[in-house]
Amino acid sequence: MKDTFLEEIQSCDLHRLADLSENASDSDVKAVVSRGVASNLEDFAILISPAALKYIEQMARISAGITRRYFGRTMRIFAPLYVSNQCVNNCVYCGFAVRNKIERRTLSLQEVAREVDAVHSLGFRNILLVASENPKLVSSGYMEDVVRIAARKMPSVSIEIAPSSVEDYSKYVAAGCEGLTVFQETYDPEVYPTLHPSGPKSVYEWRLATPERGAKAGMRKLGLGPLLGVNRWRYEMIAVALHAKFLTHKAWRSQISISLPRMRPAEGGYVCKPGNIPSDSELVLSVCALRMFLSRLAIVVSTRESRALRDGLMGLGVTQMSAFSSTMPGGYADRKESGEQFRIDDSRSPSEFAEALKAKGLDPVWKDFDSALI
Ligand code: SF4
Repeated sequence: MKDTFLEEIQSCDLHRLADLSENASDSDVKAVVSRGVASNLEDFAILISPAALKYIEQMARISAGITRRYFGRTMRIFAPLYVSNQCVNNCVYCGFAVRNKIERRTLSLQEVAREVDAVHSLGFRNILLVASENPKLVSSGYMEDVVRIAARKMPSVSIEIAPSSVEDYSKYVAAGCEGLTVFQETYDPEVYPTLHPSGPKSVYEWRLATPERGAKAGMRKLGLGPLLGVNRWRYEMIAVALHAKFLTHKAWRSQISISLPRMRPAEGGYVCKPGNIPSDSELVLSVCALRMFLSRLAIVVSTRESRALRDGLMGLGVTQMSAFSSTMPGGYADRKESGEQFRIDDSRSPSEFAEALKAKGLDPVWKDFDSALI
């Protein structure tokens, strides 16, 4: 294994693996499924192949068994809290891109406290603070204050903000932040600049190394993800699996999670190429394959997905779900729908969602950490 993930990904022929995946045979799949585990990236690529769809029920049973062994019957529930949608970037697929005429807002610290209270009163104890990239409005000092306010009420605080330095991440950790999520969107260095034409996000390498900087700063949880739909999905799935495997070794103190967001309609009107978005069955297949590749990996599915699909995924391999999300800054205390980053598909209330989990024999976990533990 290389020293950095940039070196690791550069040494791996992901296009060859994506081709291998698209062309795997029935006997290739049968051989991996019969072992019950994906021992390497080639095996993983085979498990997400078109030929593997025939084995989806068998894989689902294996994946459910591994998940039960390592995570019990639990499902961790969290809420994203958007503090700003004033972004300087121009990502072609995003409703918050600077070119879009939407209602823009960065919450004051007082408004942040009000939002945290609203999320807390809904029952959440695990919060993901989300901010678009705007160095003037969302400065490191502002984020440090935001984390501190959230950590006063919430036992578990994570951030999903513009990639930052080890020094800034260290400040957030000291203020009470335990987790960092960063979506690479696409791991393909040829495709990346076409999606991120301007703004600080256009630097592929800086974004790619973000989880490694977070680990150095002491983040206990590191979240990764591609944005499924912007590129050949099997390529992205293999790349993120490689990333998680790399961090499992290099950032072994942190828990690694993968989110699998699929493109949703947003204000920007971006249209995906046919075939770039995995179908529902292919998404389920990918969850099972990830579980068979990395037994302790946390897998996250958000409210972007439909209620039916989320219910179907419960117990199969997913370990964390968001609920009742608003992607509008101020959207919990003052619920409305304009200025979204993308559209939400499952809008059940937290209690309805918890009941759905219980009906599947799962325990909803609202709080799984307290700083008193360390
Ligand atoms: S994806 Fe993030 S960085 Fe890009 S425009 Fe949207 S909010 Fe800004």
